[in-house]
Amino acid sequence: MKVDEIFLSLQGETPFAGIPFVFVRLSGCNLRCQYCDTPAALRPSPLCHVYLPHHETTLPNPLSVERVASLLQPFSGHWLSFTGGEPLLQHEDIESFLHLAPHFRFWMETNGTLFSHVSPTLLEKIEVWSMDIKLPSATGLDLWESHERFFVALQPAKAIILKVILTPTTLLSEMETLWNVFQNWKRKREDITLIFQPMTHKKEILLGDALTWAYEKVLSVPDGSVRILPQIHPLLNIR
Ligand code: SF4
Repeated sequence: MKVDEIFLSLQGETPFAGIPFVFVRLSGCNLRCQYCDTPAALRPSPLCHVYLPHHETTLPNPLSVERVASLLQPFSGHWLSFTGGEPLLQHEDIESFLHLAPHFRFWMETNGTLFSHVSPTLLEKIEVWSMDIKLPSATGLDLWESHERFFVALQPAKAIILKVILTPTTLLSEMETLWNVFQNWKRKREDITLIFQPMTHKKEILLGDALTWAYEKVLSVPDGSVRILPQIHPLLNIR
């Protein structure tokens, strides 16, 4: 496994914010978002940094799945998030890990594009799929078709949370497209949640037209399935 870092912290996003999670940040990504704050997404790190209570170290990459499972064994019972980068680039290693470390509650943080990597094993073992929707203004790419195919592949998933990052340059036209996509998906999976996550920079939430637009949309949906939630990590100054 090519791992950038392993650490224990709080989940910083979505309605699960504030719950302790073990994070396994895998290196490498198939996208290049303009707001990406993860250097290892672009340049896989030769070292894995481990920040666990009473255990801080660096290990040379790649790590065996057995090594990662043994490092994390003391945290059995916690939630464990595969994050990145794009973790599904290493889907086969993740599948092996899932068999070796059964006593976690697994969370997959994904950019929602690698639909062919969603396997029956992942669908069975992952409790929550946090699927980003990447808008064209963020990536320079039109990923609607990939997102659609990813969402179809996720149909048997136990839980799906959709997340879109809003920046001051997010276009209202792509928000309209996103909303139509969401309405369509909600007809297929009633239990999905859509989180509008405003971008934070130096502990400040960046405002913009898209956030105002999202605010009005949230007010129109009474069942709480659409929300605005900022990331809590920068606000609390934690990893
Ligand atoms: S998908 Fe995530 S990790 Fe990849 S470039 Fe975009 S923000 Fe960075």
